Amino acid sequence: MSYPIFDLHWHARDEEQSAKETIARSLAVAEASGIIGIAAMPNTKRPLISLERCQEYLAIADREKSPVKFYVHIGLTPDPEQVKRAVDAWRREPRIIGMKAYWGKSTGDLTIRNEDQQRKVLETLSEEYYDGVLISHCEKESCMNDKLYTSSDPRIWSRRCRPEAAEMSSFDDIAGFAEDVFFPGTLHIAHVSTAYAVDKIHNYRGKVKLSCGVTPHHLFLSDDYLDRLGAQAKCNPALREEATRKGLEKRLWDGRINIIESDHANHCVEDKQGEEPASGIPVGVAWPETLGALIRRGMPSARIKALVCENPVNLFRSGDKLLDLEIPDRVRVNMDKLRLLRESYPLDVSKYIG
Ligand SMILES: [Zn+2]
Repeated sequence: MSYPIFDLHWHARDEEQSAKETIARSLAVAEASGIIGIAAMPNTKRPLISLERCQEYLAIADREKSPVKFYVHIGLTPDPEQVKRAVDAWRREPRIIGMKAYWGKSTGDLTIRNEDQQRKVLETLSEEYYDGVLISHCEKESCMNDKLYTSSDPRIWSRRCRPEAAEMSSFDDIAGFAEDVFFPGTLHIAHVSTAYAVDKIHNYRGKVKLSCGVTPHHLFLSDDYLDRLGAQAKCNPALREEATRKGLEKRLWDGRINIIESDHANHCVEDKQGEEPASGIPVGVAWPETLGALIRRGMPSARIKALVCENPVNLFRSGDKLLDLEIPDRVRVNMDKLRLLRESYPLDVSKYIG
């Protein structure tokens, strides 16, 4: 038996990208791991940016008849009319639990890179009185230089291509715009990777609701793993130097970080080869190791349950979502089944977690 998990950040891909990941396999991994619900990200090949597209995607999950609940975050584009329709879709479909904005390029084409567009998107959400969760990928493109990546020095991904400054600067922009327009929802900084953003959120006393989540890989793996594993350890934002990793761990311990989200993102082995390898780590298969690491380091069980389930669920409940989701006290984990499933993830890093 183990703790129930709600993973708010999962790239389930499927459809044209079924070679990378499928909804069926995601649900199977989740069920074996004791995950009660996952929320999929919208940067699929055909992005999830309309009600119809989200429902078409949710229907794939329905066919699995899994006990694991499946949700989506609708993607935002720079088009104000699309943003309005996204708010409407979020109001109509209970399983669209949040929205996702890529404030800089990551995987796929869903990006709102220009600062005027960024402000306009937040202003539109404010005008529409969107009071749900806006999951934000904060990396500012003017601070990034993906082209510098070279397989002969993979650590450059964290030091030069996607430095901490990219997240810090993007966070400052977006939080500032949200404040300017009186954004009524919760701005959730996904996969936070800098002590700077965590502390800004923690110390913030303004009107906007701010939140952040850390991934198991940013928590337990430093950018030494880029040297050790090459592109297998390449993700956005990048793994950070040991001092930053330790800083994130400390902030998880002292309560400045209150959510763990996996950002599970699998790719094919071929996608990780060459001079422009894909970014993403399939860390959703490593939840038992993540929990094990927290337990071994002495974290109280009530705190673990809050970090991996209650806090992420409550984040969405503040926007009147997930109200009927039941959180069991304990869940069954099937490690044999999970080990078997992991054989289909050659990029699995679970043995390094903890
Ligand atoms: Zn992600």
